[in-house]
Amino acid sequence: MRYVLIYTLFLAASAGADTLIHAGRLVDVAAGKILSEQTIRIQDDRIVAVESGFVTDATAAVIDLSEATVMPGFMDMHVHLLQELNPPASYAEGFYMNSADVALRATVYARRTLEAGFTTVRDLGVRDIEAGFALRDAINQGIVVGPRIFAAGKSIATTGGHADPTNGLREDLRGDPGPKEGVINGPDEAFKAVRQRYKDGSDVIKLTVTGGVLSLAKSGDNPQFTDEELEAIMAAARDYNFVVAVHAHGAEGMKRAIRAGVHSVEHGTYMDAEAMTLMKERGTWYVPTISAGKWVADLSEQEGKLPDVVRPKAAAVGPQIQQTFAQAWQRGVPIAFGTDAGVSPHGANGREFVFMVEAGMPVMEALRAATVNAATLLRVEDELGQLRAGYVADIVAVRGDPFADVAVLESPDFVMKDGAVIVGGEVSNP
Ligand SMILES: [Zn+2]
Repeated sequence: MRYVLIYTLFLAASAGADTLIHAGRLVDVAAGKILSEQTIRIQDDRIVAVESGFVTDATAAVIDLSEATVMPGFMDMHVHLLQELNPPASYAEGFYMNSADVALRATVYARRTLEAGFTTVRDLGVRDIEAGFALRDAINQGIVVGPRIFAAGKSIATTGGHADPTNGLREDLRGDPGPKEGVINGPDEAFKAVRQRYKDGSDVIKLTVTGGVLSLAKSGDNPQFTDEELEAIMAAARDYNFVVAVHAHGAEGMKRAIRAGVHSVEHGTYMDAEAMTLMKERGTWYVPTISAGKWVADLSEQEGKLPDVVRPKAAAVGPQIQQTFAQAWQRGVPIAFGTDAGVSPHGANGREFVFMVEAGMPVMEALRAATVNAATLLRVEDELGQLRAGYVADIVAVRGDPFADVAVLESPDFVMKDGAVIVGGEVSNP
């Protein structure tokens, strides 16, 4: 039924007919205002006008959201669509799942993410390079229903670092992965790894500049890149116009990366006052991923869920992230929304809004983090993240009032991506 609806809307759009959305309350995230009784006019995949009042015309289809709060599509700056943590089973997946298995499963996670109102995501690291790009491309071609993906491909680490794919393996399987597999040592290899990501088709670059929670390694926060390596990465990233995101828990590795000019810090668990000041000065985005912290903290309390080397790291890092977020927000660090879904369940991305508001952020600011701020981080702020003429028609609506009860953002009643209805939206002709 849903497919029929999407198809019908595409046909209507291609025939030149407009779609009108009657928005009871329209959230202008850029101005931080709520406008009442607006009409959003859509042609093909674009918003062509936002008009006051409930406008109708003879040829246009009308979607009645007159009782709803209407917002730009949400953007999650940190997901992993190819995986979903299901310990301890997920640690063995690499040994029996082929690319095709991984890609097919990911189509389900992609749909869940989009149905939760997330029309754009940044996929920050995959084990299976082929499957990751295949998913992105299939969505762009309209073959698979899912969010618009900005894909990092394989994350870049150093030997034994958080994204070294051979950590914890039996000795004869460990080998010595290099820049092609995203493991570098020294500036030359750093350059090569970025160029390899360009060749692979990456949209963004992801580095793991400190230890991490879920990798089979002892430290969750030690620095893992030198200043020289980071400078080389950033020089190469500038050549190829890449946005660079860094996974970081420890303050030292984080500060080296911020000074080198990276664009976002992910998790940021042990961010200190100096790191916060640096980020504020340089406009480095903080992508908190409180959801992942909460999720691994819960797992660490259950017997047999996490490997022995991982469990104490999860217990220490997990509960800290929300407090770090609260401090960063108070100090004025720029914040973009991100969950690390794939660690936490796909489709539960909206719970991050609840965690952000719980930590003291106003609902409007949390919505900005997931729209205009995320779009700015991705350098697509002229096309995504707002409900304005000329912008892509990515639209989310909820029947309740998110400013009174932020939890309503967890399950939107209406989702549109690229002008096509994905969830809800009774279409009628006047
Ligand atoms: Zn992640």
